[in-house]
Amino acid sequence: MSSAYLGMPAFPQAAKAATQDARLRANLRRATHTIRDKRARAVGELDDWAALREAGRRIKDQTLRHLDVYLLQLEERVTSAGGTVHWAADAAEANRIVAELVRATGESEVVKVKSMATQEIGLNEALAEAGVTAYETDLAELIVQLGDDLPSHILVPAIHRNRGEIRDIFVERMARWGRPAPEGLTDRPADLAEAARLHLREKFLRAKVAVSGANFMIAETGTLVVVESEGNGRMCLTLPQTLISVVGIEKVLPTWQDLEVFLQFLPRSSTAERMNPYTTMWTGLGPGGAADGDGPRAFHLVLLDNGRTDTLADEIGRQVLRCIRCSACLNVCPVYERAGGHAYGSPYPGPIGAVLTPQLRGTGSEVDASLPFASSLCGACYEVCPVAIDIPEVLVHLREQVAAQPGHAAERAAMRAATWLFEHPAALAAAERTASATRALHPRTLPLGPAGAWTQARDLPRLPAEPFRTWWKRHRAEPPAAPQSTGTSQPPTTPQPPTTPESTP
Ligand code: SF4
Repeated sequence: MSSAYLGMPAFPQAAKAATQDARLRANLRRATHTIRDKRARAVGELDDWAALREAGRRIKDQTLRHLDVYLLQLEERVTSAGGTVHWAADAAEANRIVAELVRATGESEVVKVKSMATQEIGLNEALAEAGVTAYETDLAELIVQLGDDLPSHILVPAIHRNRGEIRDIFVERMARWGRPAPEGLTDRPADLAEAARLHLREKFLRAKVAVSGANFMIAETGTLVVVESEGNGRMCLTLPQTLISVVGIEKVLPTWQDLEVFLQFLPRSSTAERMNPYTTMWTGLGPGGAADGDGPRAFHLVLLDNGRTDTLADEIGRQVLRCIRCSACLNVCPVYERAGGHAYGSPYPGPIGAVLTPQLRGTGSEVDASLPFASSLCGACYEVCPVAIDIPEVLVHLREQVAAQPGHAAERAAMRAATWLFEHPAALAAAERTASATRALHPRTLPLGPAGAWTQARDLPRLPAEPFRTWWKRHRAEPPAAPQSTGTSQPPTTPQPPTTPESTP
């Protein structure tokens, strides 16, 4: 994983700081609500959304079941179309392969298409160590790179910035990376886009090497697919002489026909568009490439594992490999909306980050062990996920793994005690009676430990004066009062359980 994330605090500490940043919260709230509302309208236009979602889930599951077969088929097709396939077991190997390929061209700079896989492995930092400068060409990635910042959203990496901040970054930093910002630059979106266009154009025309990821790879033909909205990807994929694509092994699809499903729901889920603006597809150096005198002269595909095979081995966790990085789950997540993307300590923020990062990196570090708990388990992420990843199920599964690690003895002991109590109804009833009888002595906050941290932001609910079982026994013997003949159809009155105002959330 990228060295840029080393040393970051665990989620609770990072989120605590982020939630106190009023400007960050305002930026996030405005952006996520706008995107989520547009997405809901775009999805609502389709009568067959549920069928598409089910088709996407099945295609991905079928592919993951036979991933080895499809990857070998892909390798054979890419190779026979003039490309070269490299296999990278982890981030270090992928970075080494790419750095050597760039060095072999004699170039010292590359242009990049926005790619989560290259962020995951920290490619820009690795290339910098090898003396190669990587220029991000996606507008939001450019903002992040110029600002010496980290992305905070999968689709909109600079979502935490507003227009005024972006203008300031352009004015202060563009000159350092080449062409300076135009005189008197305003924060109008059109002016900011024009400044980025002028800044990037010379890089597109100069670059001899490009690095990309891919949204999909088609096994039956060896075709790679990049979907994007700005056209910068098309420039990178067609102008330079050497193209290097770093792609996670789970991005393969068996056939062209399968792609049809994903190209319908990816744009609606991500940018709320009916159709994607720029969809670039290429097959090795075939038509459109060196074979007819156009496009790159060399194409390298680096197939990245980096924890994906281990994830595939987990029966519950493997469903995250269906993810198409649409980011719909981020835009509906109440935790992401308040904490922001940097709190997740990984290029993958939000609900998908909370289940993907701990599986790719393991739950050994404090940051990664905290991520499965970065959720209220409300299920909104599952509702919107176009490939039906049951994120809450995976979160609970990962929490079990974290709780099984050393350092969670108190939680395990509490769970064992609760298990025993629920298996012995008489003991449970006695405990409830005792708790109610001693309710006046119970504290509302706790001074120390994990429970103490929980009560820093909320009071413990006060117990009712009478346990429910006792109340039920008393009222079961009293039948509900017969309905009165009032001439109106009122429902019969039923006994209501005792309430305590203090226990209302
Ligand atoms: S988990 Fe689902 S909703 Fe979230 S980014 Fe992946 S595909 Fe999109």
